[in-house]
Amino acid sequence: MEARPGRVVPRRRPARQTRRHPLFGEVPLLPGPGASGGAGRAWTYDPDYRPDLPSGAVRGDPRRQLFCCEVPKYFYVDADETCRDCGAGFVFSAREQKHWYETLGFRLDASAVRCLPCRRAFRRARGISRALSDASRALVEAPLHPPAALAYARAAIAHAERFGHAPLDSAIAALRALRRHAPSVVETIYLEGRCAEAAGRPRGAAASYERFLAAAPPRGNAALARDARARLERLVAPAD
Ligand SMILES: [Zn+2]
Repeated sequence: MEARPGRVVPRRRPARQTRRHPLFGEVPLLPGPGASGGAGRAWTYDPDYRPDLPSGAVRGDPRRQLFCCEVPKYFYVDADETCRDCGAGFVFSAREQKHWYETLGFRLDASAVRCLPCRRAFRRARGISRALSDASRALVEAPLHPPAALAYARAAIAHAERFGHAPLDSAIAALRALRRHAPSVVETIYLEGRCAEAAGRPRGAAASYERFLAAAPPRGNAALARDARARLERLVAPAD
């Protein structure tokens, strides 16, 4: 069929591709790598789409988010979550989500699984384990370096107090080796007491604290001496 002169045949504009999202509405898609829009063609979510904000929502900036195939967070709303560790309900707030995904660089498929107190406890526990493995590596490299042996013993004690187990005997061995090498480092005696105490050997602990108090020059050891004295009193107090 010939087009009749004088009549403009309107070019059909290709339909704008969108994908419906329960929160963000009809999200426009752009040609490009990323979200698959079907029909064998790759599409990506339009980073400049600005849906209306529901009340309490915080605007997201997709250009600052790390995602592969997830829908970008055009805005954030408070999310109700259940803590993996304690089972309590908690709110993963819109502001906190924005901070996670746009400042800290967490991927969009990451989500808060613990309430704040459990998150803090988890980080502390992870810190204690890492401190012990770091100290253990440092000790292998420099077994008679006083800070390395002292840090290893302190890390083992913290680990034992938090988790109920730690390589306390190898910490004691490291402290004794350091004491033979550098007798003036009297903190080794105090820490040996702490290790024995953490290992459930109160008599050995008390003996170490006594030796420490006898050997420690008062200057520079006041805090440790106070602690050793308090621990000694508790250990020798008759059980009621
Ligand atoms: Zn919790």
